[in-house]
Amino acid sequence: MIAENLRRVKEQIAEACVRAGRTPESVRLIAVSKTKPASDVLTAFEAGHRVFGENYVQELLVKFADERLQNLPIEWHFVGHLQTNKVRYLAERIAMIHGVDKFSLAEEISKRAKKYNRSVPILLEVNISSEATKHGLKPDALFAEAEKIFSLPRLEVKGLMTIASPDRDKVRDEFKEMRALFERLKTIAPNPNQISELSMGMSGDFDIAIEEGATLLRIGTAIFGERKN
Ligand SMILES: *Cc1c(COP(=O)(O)O)cnc(C)c1O
Repeated sequence: MIAENLRRVKEQIAEACVRAGRTPESVRLIAVSKTKPASDVLTAFEAGHRVFGENYVQELLVKFADERLQNLPIEWHFVGHLQTNKVRYLAERIAMIHGVDKFSLAEEISKRAKKYNRSVPILLEVNISSEATKHGLKPDALFAEAEKIFSLPRLEVKGLMTIASPDRDKVRDEFKEMRALFERLKTIAPNPNQISELSMGMSGDFDIAIEEGATLLRIGTAIFGERKN
């Protein structure tokens, strides 16, 4: 089931790339395994997938420690809202932190990265739909915050991340606006080549995200099935 879903999703991504005139290599799939057991991650791994995303620190730590997954070459992304006091649990192993939405959080990641003598790739989260319940920087606050975050050592600001509104009619405009913010971010970045990732598109809207320039898709339900909450 998971292997079949993964195959179908990858096929849909490839088709959307063709429609958008993009190469399949320009889009990477993060399989979001939150709330799903380590055995599901293992199944997807055995089907050839290597890049996974989680959005709860506690759950990610359980998966880090799972003996079936421990020594596998899995690239783990943290895609959720990260509390500053939890950064220390992720700093050593995480491949990318998607949801950075304030300077103090970036500062803590920078500090912890130093401890592990590495630099940590991050994305700045934008609240593009301006829903009060969502995390992320308002578009008009993004660039001032980004300027400050660029100055921190051992952080690689790679680009932007967003969660679009659930209303599919609004999604395309939101993704277009994200693309514009992404292009503008390049113009203020100390190293524009480093701004290469636009993380947007989930199970319900990844086709639109690809058309609007996403480079990282975060897909859970379409691969692992519905989550029970
Ligand atoms: C859960 C989650 C996803 C995946 O959502 P699906 O609709 O299940 O594909 C993507 N991004 C974030 C931040 C999430 O929390």
